[in-house]
Amino acid sequence: MKKDPGQIMREFTQRQNRQFIAIAATLFCVLGCAVIYKRPDLLGEFSKNALVGAQIVIIAAYIGFTSQNWKCPSCEKRLGADINRRTCKKCGARLQ
Ligand SMILES: [Zn+2]
Repeated sequence: MKKDPGQIMREFTQRQNRQFIAIAATLFCVLGCAVIYKRPDLLGEFSKNALVGAQIVIIAAYIGFTSQNWKCPSCEKRLGADINRRTCKKCGARLQ
């Protein structure tokens, strides 16, 4: 079933909002790991390897989320790095 243009734009806005939240959460967690490492008095001491491992897991989760979320609502192709994309470069659908 083909989606109408209004539906595509609404869905894109939802995906964009989720993407902003994911970016903010990822930055917060990655920076949080760095803070925990620098300030062992806050939450106790963690080994550098544990914190680097945690950061890798967080970034992998972000990449996994992005590959599921950051797709054109019309053709389901990846949207690339531009979060404010106005049209899909694959199918030409208007996104916002
Ligand atoms: Zn598309």
